[in-house]
Amino acid sequence: MHAQLELLLEIQDLRTQRHGMEDGTLADVESDVFAVEVADAIEILDEKLGELETRLTEEIGERYSRMARKGMRAVAPVIKGICYGCFMAVATARASEAGRNSRVENCEHCGRFLYHVV
Ligand SMILES: [Zn+2]
Repeated sequence: MHAQLELLLEIQDLRTQRHGMEDGTLADVESDVFAVEVADAIEILDEKLGELETRLTEEIGERYSRMARKGMRAVAPVIKGICYGCFMAVATARASEAGRNSRVENCEHCGRFLYHVV
């Protein structure tokens, strides 16, 4: 897999976890001690996210930031030729199955980074 795509997936995963902590857990936290721990964990995640984001190339980083600012998930799985970000068919005939994730591609409809699952 392309190193940048791997990085994007890692960033997206951490971001999803961060949102989960912020939206769900933190709002319902009853214990003050635990709330502090969650706040600390979010801070640590933010640091890690910042570090990971600096490892993106300029072009990919900019594209990623644009989507992240809009609250979009930047990477969409592609299953049987359908982008699961926008549910439109994407052109996948260009590369062999194994080679697809070795390049960073964007959906021509929604612009998300494509992660080919099958
Ligand atoms: Zn799409």
